[in-house]
Amino acid sequence: MIAFQKDGLTVFQSALWKTTSSVIETNDLILVVDPTWLPLEVKEIQEHVAHIRKGKDVYLLFTHGDFDHIIGYHAFPDAKVIGSKGMHEHPRKQYKLDLIQSFDNEYYVERPYDIEFPTIDIVIENDGQQLVVGDTKFTFYLSPGHTHDGLFTIIEPLGIWITGDYLSDFELPYLFDSAKAYLETLQKARMILDSHSVEILVPGHGQVTESKAEMTRRVELAQDYLERLIDAVTRKDEEPILRLEKEMSFPSNFTKGCHEENVSIIKKEYC
Ligand SMILES: [Zn+2]
Repeated sequence: MIAFQKDGLTVFQSALWKTTSSVIETNDLILVVDPTWLPLEVKEIQEHVAHIRKGKDVYLLFTHGDFDHIIGYHAFPDAKVIGSKGMHEHPRKQYKLDLIQSFDNEYYVERPYDIEFPTIDIVIENDGQQLVVGDTKFTFYLSPGHTHDGLFTIIEPLGIWITGDYLSDFELPYLFDSAKAYLETLQKARMILDSHSVEILVPGHGQVTESKAEMTRRVELAQDYLERLIDAVTRKDEEPILRLEKEMSFPSNFTKGCHEENVSIIKKEYC
């Protein structure tokens, strides 16, 4: 379902986990970001791209290698694929594919394309690395913390910032990698807001925002949550730890598991 459309940007939002997929059209190219989830949803994105493509090259950007973001990789077989070095060298590719297979089996989902871990053509290794195609300029920053292989992308002159699984309006930080790295990535986010003319922020889950105040609020929300959790865990104070779990939206076994993982990663890094 199209959730947001402005200038060259179309953001689709899946019925599952509010996961977003973006399509960006410039004079030079079409960029597709994390096409996902269900077959009909992926088909809607394919049809949109086919409609606006007009012979342009298609680039496929992955914000990270989590299975919900890579599930539609082979729906765009002739695209040039962009991803981080961490994703390129992902140590658990088969595990991510197994998650897709078990999801599809559990719900009897059939896809008209193969499931494979993305092969990255354009590997992003450094902060500030750029890719320029005609008048379209991509600037990349590595964003570890949620996962080790996260990637921030700023597309100029449109002023679009693709944040992956950071800076959602409703999803609090999930640490599958490192709390320390997550906090550093939030510092990078502040730097991006100061040094790029960001007009639109597109998170991997949830709502797009065009408000600078809201972008800053999201950085602060994540930082505040993590700092309170780190404080409670290092003091071994169970009551606030439990309260912090309750702050997560859509409480479920999933959020419970994510919270437990957050606590265990913080213990490993800070205790
Ligand atoms: Zn995600």
